[in-house]
Amino acid sequence: MSAHATPEQIEDVVARLAEAGCAAYVTEGKDATVIGALGESELLAALPLEGFPGVEQVLPILKPYKLVSREISPDPSVIEVRGRRIGHGWFGFIAGPCTVETRAQTLETARVVAAEGVTLLRGGAFKPRTSPYAFQGLGLEGLKILAEARDETGLPLVTELMDPRDIDAVVEYADVIQIGARNMQNFNLLSEVGRAGKPVLIKRGPSASIEELLMAAEYVVKEGNTQVILCERGIKTFERSTRYTLDISAIPVLKHETHLPVIVDPSHAAGKRDLVLPLARAAVAAGADGVIVEVHPRPEEALCDGPQLIPTAEFGEFAGEIRALVSLMGKTIG
Ligand code: PEP
Ligand code: MN
Repeated sequence: MSAHATPEQIEDVVARLAEAGCAAYVTEGKDATVIGALGESELLAALPLEGFPGVEQVLPILKPYKLVSREISPDPSVIEVRGRRIGHGWFGFIAGPCTVETRAQTLETARVVAAEGVTLLRGGAFKPRTSPYAFQGLGLEGLKILAEARDETGLPLVTELMDPRDIDAVVEYADVIQIGARNMQNFNLLSEVGRAGKPVLIKRGPSASIEELLMAAEYVVKEGNTQVILCERGIKTFERSTRYTLDISAIPVLKHETHLPVIVDPSHAAGKRDLVLPLARAAVAAGADGVIVEVHPRPEEALCDGPQLIPTAEFGEFAGEIRALVSLMGKTIG
């Protein structure tokens, strides 16, 4: 309570807490009175305490996320996708095109990554582009090409859903639904995929805090879907020599806070192909449960993210480095 709070204002807060079924513990200090409120965090969150007369500050002691927290589920979760596993010692090695451009480019890339024993195939049919004039993806046609690549290689498919109106199409073709960084706080979309009954990969927004990422995951899990993978993909900072700044510390922080698997996208963080391997190595060493990287047969011809794409001709070497480090960490590619 503020230093000038009247006894009536203090009593009013205590009474409102009691009405909401919460216990109130009043401590009178020399300069101010502190009221400790104990009760269901949902009931407390619903009380607009900040607006009560005489209230100076409201400090939540508990974390706002519950279902995704380690307190609820102390054991790490394992996400199972058609026989592949990610989390708790299973490393998700995810690779594939940034964007489906043509059938040939997608199939060629899928074959190369499959031959290196990756866990999942990635690829975008609906692309979140900064410019409305840039290639927006092939849409449904792209999903069909990805499904063909999935059927030929046997690799489960992760692809992005941007618009709830496309959910039926994406659910039909995808094994894992990706929520892109720009949609991380599209709460209706999160609830919608929470009800879709498919594993969900949520990418951290470039300006989102770790707590906001966990709250995004909470939206999905709240709908009954616990099959969620979190992805650190770089955040916006003042640094201009990389596309984003990969927040390596997010990996141990997230793994401390949540039971959900945490993977890293070094491709979008780096924006430059030469940096993808060092950042991927750092991610594995910091305890990531997987990496997701972009590959292309001819990056110089790519319609999206060319500078960061690993050429298919170099993917074998890249995969060898990742496999070596993963086994050094005592993990198995899932
Ligand atoms: C992607 O993975 O295809 C993508 C667009 O990444 P992000 O949402 O992290 O920018
Ligand atoms: Mn991309």
